[in-house]
Amino acid sequence: MAEWAKLDRLLREKSLKAIEASAREWKEKQPEIKKKRGVEITFLGTGGNPEAVISQVPRTGGFYLQFDDLRMLVDPGLGAPLYARECGIDLRSLDAVYISHGHTDHYAGAETVIEAMCWAMSCRRGMVLGPGQVFAENRVISCYHQGQTEKSGYRGGPEVVVLEAFRPVEIKGARLTPVPVYHGGENYGFILEKEGFKLGYTSDTSYIKAYRNAAGTVEVGRVGTVMDLEEIVDFRRDLKEIFGRVDVLIANVTSHNSWFHRHITTLGLAHLLRGSRVRLCLLTHFNYSCVVPEDLRPLMARYVEEYSGVAAKAVRDGETVLLDCFRKLSSQEA
Ligand SMILES: [Zn+2]
Repeated sequence: MAEWAKLDRLLREKSLKAIEASAREWKEKQPEIKKKRGVEITFLGTGGNPEAVISQVPRTGGFYLQFDDLRMLVDPGLGAPLYARECGIDLRSLDAVYISHGHTDHYAGAETVIEAMCWAMSCRRGMVLGPGQVFAENRVISCYHQGQTEKSGYRGGPEVVVLEAFRPVEIKGARLTPVPVYHGGENYGFILEKEGFKLGYTSDTSYIKAYRNAAGTVEVGRVGTVMDLEEIVDFRRDLKEIFGRVDVLIANVTSHNSWFHRHITTLGLAHLLRGSRVRLCLLTHFNYSCVVPEDLRPLMARYVEEYSGVAAKAVRDGETVLLDCFRKLSSQEA
């Protein structure tokens, strides 16, 4: 037999075995799911805005949320599948992918994550939740990744759930209520609720509408970095009301005192939290300038905590936060 013919036979046999093993690994094997009560949040990335997207400082992977029985990846930006692997998270275990709005730091990893959730597009499983704009108008998520796979030779894909303001979605025993926020284009934060425990996510939103400076002048709709704020005089009252009633809030801050017109900032967040019933606030979605040339994140969290009286923590790339919020019920069951 000619050498090339021997190689051909060898390669055919080895390839067959490898392909069968790969199918078992990615399309057939049940992902290992450790049943545990409570909430576990792993921040695959804590960065936001274009500078963080292009530098990956901080990373833009979004966060993996295990909310009792629900496993959901929220705002998977660029790098989400890679960082999930680094954090030991099997994305095939996901029940849902949540996209708050159509900006790259929130969706650039979503299509790959959907492929993982649908077991290499071999299964009909999981939900992808997002504003209508993400699916139709801007179509940042392709038809294929919306589950229209008929002509592709793949049979898998997710169920698409188009979010509507305040219309709750029941998902794996939890209730997710989309909260419309203010950022440019259709964008939803959410409240996720189970057994009386509420977790809030602000997504990207403006909050401060007007402030008074030392000279007594009221400044409205300022763009850029603000140095002369003395007192906030107008703000998003609906957001203070809604997010002020959650137990734990995940807030996309971006900056301390810049881009009020699109972002809550730590100046706005501290105002929202003061007098609220929030017990813990996790700060994320930091602009590159929060880290370089100096890491301002600990100072930002301290400012929020000092002003509002609410415990605040600036989360890091790859960090996992555990919330033992269903303990009461667990001990009753035991
Ligand atoms: Zn955005």
